Amino acid sequence: MPANFKAELVACFGQPVAENPTGVMQEAAFRALGLNWRYLTVEVAPADLRAAMRGVRAFGMQGLNLTIPHKVAVMQHLDEVSPDAAMIGAVNTVRRDGARLIGENTDGKGFLRGVRQDAGVDPRGKRAVILGAGGAARAIATELALAGVSEIVVVNRSAARAEPMVRDLIAGTGARVKFQEWRGIYEVPEDADLLVNATSIGLYPDVDAMPPVDLRTASPSLLVADAVFNPPETRLLAAARARRLKVLDGLSMLVYQGVIGFELWTGQKAPEGVMKAALREALSL
Ligand code: NDP
Repeated sequence: MPANFKAELVACFGQPVAENPTGVMQEAAFRALGLNWRYLTVEVAPADLRAAMRGVRAFGMQGLNLTIPHKVAVMQHLDEVSPDAAMIGAVNTVRRDGARLIGENTDGKGFLRGVRQDAGVDPRGKRAVILGAGGAARAIATELALAGVSEIVVVNRSAARAEPMVRDLIAGTGARVKFQEWRGIYEVPEDADLLVNATSIGLYPDVDAMPPVDLRTASPSLLVADAVFNPPETRLLAAARARRLKVLDGLSMLVYQGVIGFELWTGQKAPEGVMKAALREALSL
C-alpha cells in the first residue's frame, strides 16, 4: 500500500474556546483506534464564522463541534440540519456526507445515553422536571420528549425564554410540556422521577451556588442530574447524595456527546473508557 501521510481534520469553533476539554478526549480516541485524525480547538470570532466554514469545505474537514456563540449562527452555513437539531434550534456537531455538511445536536442525546447507561434509568413514561430554558435545556427536553417521557415541567426564571421553548416542544414532539415560573424556592414534586439542572447555576467559578430547590418533598426514587460538569460534584448533587437520591453528573453528558460525535465522524465504535479517562485527566479529577 502506498504511504499516506494525510491527516483527517475535525475542529471545535468557539469564542472563548481555550478551556473546552473536548479535544483531549477526541484525540485520545483517535490514538486508541490508530486513526490519523486531528482535533483542532480553534478560536473563531462571530464575524469570521462564514470564512471559517468556507475553510472547513476547502480543507475537506470531516466534522466540527460548535460552542458559544456559534451553535445557532452555523446553521445558515450548512447543507442540511437534522430534524431534532432543527427542533432544538441549535447545532453542536457537524458531520460530512460526501460534499455536504450536516448539522446535528448531540448534547441531549449524550444526556439521554448517560441516563440510560450510567444511571440505569429508562426515561419512557417518566415525569421530568427541567431547570432552565437555554440551549442545554432545549436539547435535553427535546431528546427526553422523543424518548417518550410522560410529562416535562420546565422551571425557569424568565417566561420570555421558557414560553417559546415549551411551544416548540409541544409543536415538535407532541409531548405534554408545562411551564412553571421560578420564584423563590422550587419544591420538587413528589411524583417527579427526574430532576435536571440545565441552568449555569453552580458552574465554575460560582461553585458554591445551588439552584433554589427543595429536595425534601422529592420521592426517594428521584434521579437528580446536573448539566454542569465543572465541577462535576455540584452543590445540587451533593445535596441529593445527602438525601440518598440517585445522581448523574455533567461529565456523563459531556463524554457521551463526544462519543456520539466520534461515531458520526469516523463511523467506528468510540472507545468510551479511553475518552472518559482522558477527560478526567484533562480536568485534573
Ligand atoms: P444558556 O445561557 O443558554 O441558559 C442558561 C439558563 O440558566 C437559562 O435558562 C437561565 O435562566 C438560567 N439561569 C442562569 N443563571 C440563573 C440564576 N441565577 N437563577 C435562575 N436561572 C438561571 O446556557 P446553556 O443552556 O448553554 O448551558 C447551561 C449549563 O449547561 C451550563 O452550565 C453549561 O456548562 C452546561 N452544559 C453542559 C453540557 C455537558 O455536556 N455537560 C453541554 C452544554 C451545556 P433565564 O432564562 O431566566 O435567564
